Amino acid sequence: YDDRDGWIWMDGKLVPWRDANVHILTHALHYASSVFEGERCYSGKIFKGHEHSLRLRRSAELLDMDIPFSAEEIDAAKDAMLKANGWTDAYVRAVAWRGSGEDMGVSARRNPVRLAVAGWEWGNYYGDAKMKGAKLDIAKWKRPSPETIPSEAKAAGLYMICTMSKHAAEAKGCSDAMMMDYRGYVAEATGANIFFVKDGEVHTPKPDCFLNGITRQTVIGMLRDRQVKVHERHIEPSELESFEQCWLTGTAAEVTPVGQIGDYSFEVGQMVRDVASAYEKLVRA
Ligand code: PMP
Repeated sequence: YDDRDGWIWMDGKLVPWRDANVHILTHALHYASSVFEGERCYSGKIFKGHEHSLRLRRSAELLDMDIPFSAEEIDAAKDAMLKANGWTDAYVRAVAWRGSGEDMGVSARRNPVRLAVAGWEWGNYYGDAKMKGAKLDIAKWKRPSPETIPSEAKAAGLYMICTMSKHAAEAKGCSDAMMMDYRGYVAEATGANIFFVKDGEVHTPKPDCFLNGITRQTVIGMLRDRQVKVHERHIEPSELESFEQCWLTGTAAEVTPVGQIGDYSFEVGQMVRDVASAYEKLVRA
């Protein structure tokens, strides 16, 4: 993927795709001092782009990193990158990290904080599974307590167990894994939030130890506007059996119905179809 034409914005300017490299002694590569964003540009406009820029800065702050660009400058960087590549519909990846410098130990205050904005054309994250209902494994790794890691941050270090869980799920023929939290409650998938339907009402885990996704908040708002009751609460795995429908939300996942989690099955019903099509309309509105 590194040997291709295109433009990536790095530390204030556009550079050719092939030249967007970092040194092997980059602090982030050794110690996970990295935060990022995933966004989507639809018909020429990034959906909630500014919110993503603010979240990137907030994630960095939680990791004691000060990105040397304002949220407005990050917005402009994303637009410049999209324009240079000629994209109106693309996935956008902003990433900020602690670079190489004086420090090669754990402490790295003297190393610069760097920022890059790349993008690529990315269809639905779950591909064919999209409207058929994705099949999920149950991960053995748990979302950690917010006392052990800044779980509000979209930080690279939080994804180590996600990649491990997703690989294990894929080896079993699943598209993704559902993760429990450190207390044993249902948490989220490895890169998306989760929702359930029972008796016409929606239930979703309370985001007290995982990312409160921008898509999640958008979908909750859409449902409440339609007078659908949404319960944000702790969900026990034993409740899975009682839920009729299930879906995932995320920038990459958008709204993806879930057909199966472990031994539990869900129908791709009317509610999830309505939510998916309403979200599709909203992002292009
Ligand atoms: N949880 C995790 C672990 C994620 O990686 C993502 C994707 N950013 C989400 C939830 C959903 O977040 P958003 O809707 O802001 O993309």
